[in-house]
Amino acid sequence: MVSDLHSNLEALDAVVAAARDRGATGFIVCGDIVGYGADPEAVLERVFDLPLRSVVAGNHDLAAVDRFPLDWFNDVAADALRWTAEQLPADARETLRGLEPRESSTEGLVVHGSVVEPASEYLMPGEDAAASRSFGHEPFERCFFGHTHVPTVFEQRGDGGVRGNAIQGEGRLRLTGGHRYLLNPGSLGQPRDGDPRSAFMIVDDEQSAVEWIRVAYDVDAAQEKIRAAGLPGVLADRLAAGR
Ligand code: ZN
Repeated sequence: MVSDLHSNLEALDAVVAAARDRGATGFIVCGDIVGYGADPEAVLERVFDLPLRSVVAGNHDLAAVDRFPLDWFNDVAADALRWTAEQLPADARETLRGLEPRESSTEGLVVHGSVVEPASEYLMPGEDAAASRSFGHEPFERCFFGHTHVPTVFEQRGDGGVRGNAIQGEGRLRLTGGHRYLLNPGSLGQPRDGDPRSAFMIVDDEQSAVEWIRVAYDVDAAQEKIRAAGLPGVLADRLAAGR
């Protein structure tokens, strides 16, 4: 399970290899396939070559095909989105147009931001009240989300209480029967938790557990492509810092 790939082909290849090494047989994609990075078309193609269980659109994916307002974004993100839209051929734009920010799958509910506002609301660690609203919005057991670029779990106990935590580095969690979960793998293509390694999550249905995993990738190559494309330099710099 991956989110916020952001046109980072080097990170995607590293994560797919690492996930397959760990026995992954299907992929869930929580949106923001494009935006920020230098390889929108190639990343989109690679994603749709994967054995996909579920894929949703993020706000960047929607904005790249004029389905989300560009003035919602800061200048750097909007510049990168204009560049992204120019790079995408007609069939890639069609693919993005076919995605919604929310989808039900057999593995669980999949959204980009939150259950209440699937395209745009941020569920940052600690924002337990916002997470409670998402738990109350639909009767899901597990919901996968992204958007914040921070690996996170919100857990709702049987008594309705909600607690959220950021996951530092890697971690494993056994899912308790009767509890409900909102699970964010962190960002594959632009981590923002201070760890520059690419983030993803393994959902282990047999063990009823999830695992957050980090994998190093060729940051230099991704940075070089961003600079060569003439994208804002800060988008290259931040990959090395993981911020
Ligand atoms: Zn994102």
